Amino acid sequence: MAIELPEAQRLAQQIDAALKGKDIAGVLVPERAAPLVRQGFINLHTTILAHTTVAGAYSRGKWIFVELEPGRLMLFALETGGRLLYHPTGFSGPATYQTRIDFVDGSCLTVHISGWGFAKTVLRRELANETYPGRLGISPLDEHFTLTMLASMLDSAAPQLIQQAIMDQRTLAGIGGGYAQDILFRAGLHPKRTAGSLDSGEMRRLYDAIRTTLSLAVAQGGRTGEIDLYGHPGGYQPVMDAAHMGRPCPICGTPVTQITVLGAPTYVCPNCQR
Ligand SMILES: [Zn+2]
Repeated sequence: MAIELPEAQRLAQQIDAALKGKDIAGVLVPERAAPLVRQGFINLHTTILAHTTVAGAYSRGKWIFVELEPGRLMLFALETGGRLLYHPTGFSGPATYQTRIDFVDGSCLTVHISGWGFAKTVLRRELANETYPGRLGISPLDEHFTLTMLASMLDSAAPQLIQQAIMDQRTLAGIGGGYAQDILFRAGLHPKRTAGSLDSGEMRRLYDAIRTTLSLAVAQGGRTGEIDLYGHPGGYQPVMDAAHMGRPCPICGTPVTQITVLGAPTYVCPNCQR
C-alpha cells in the first residue's frame, strides 16, 4: 500500500495546520539514507533549508507540496510503508527515519521511506522541470473533471488496461493500485478490460465509481491501513483488497479471487466484474 490522493490530502491539510509559520533549523539525513540520496530520492539539506519558513501545504495527486519562504517547495511522495510523522515536542524513539526536519521551536517532522519515495526540495519556479510532481494531471475530484474528459482520456489510452489508464498520473493524478481496485469493483469492470472497450454506460459507471470512492475516502481521512501525520489510521475500509481474498463478494457472495494486473496482485469479484 502507498499513499494515494485521500491520504496525501489529509497529510497536506495536517501539515498546513501544524507547521505553517515554523522556521526550519536544520535537516538530518542519516547515513542509512545514503542510497536514496545517491539515487536522487532525497535532496533535503540543512545548507539549503535552514532559515526558511513554512508558508503552507497542499496536495496534488499522491504528492504533498510544502511551500517555504523564500521561493522553495518541499515535495513528498511515499510508496509502500512510507510515513510522514510530526513530533510536536521533538523526536523520541528508534531513529528509523531517512530524513528529519527540525524546526526552531523544537518540533520536527520525520520521513520514513521504504522502497520508493521522495523527500525533495526545488525552487518553486522550477517545479515544472520535475519529472513526476511537475507534470501532474487533473484531480479526479476537481469540479472540472467531467465524464467527457474521462471518455477522452480512455480514448487516448485505448489499447491500455483501464487500470493503467486511470492510474496515469500525467492525465489523472491521485489514483494508485489501492483505490483502483475499489473503483473497478464499484464500476463492475474487470481490471483486464482495455480502456477502449468501454461502452457509454460503463464509462458513466467508472466515472461515478472514481468520484464516489475517492470522496468517501477523503471524508474518512484515507484508508485504515495508512496513518496520518500523528500516527492515526484513516477510517476508509477498502472493499476489495488482500484481506478479502477468498471471502464472499459484498454484493453477490462469490468468493473474491486474486489476479495479476500490471505485475501487481489485484483482487476481483469474478462474477460482478466483467
Ligand atoms: Zn460479486
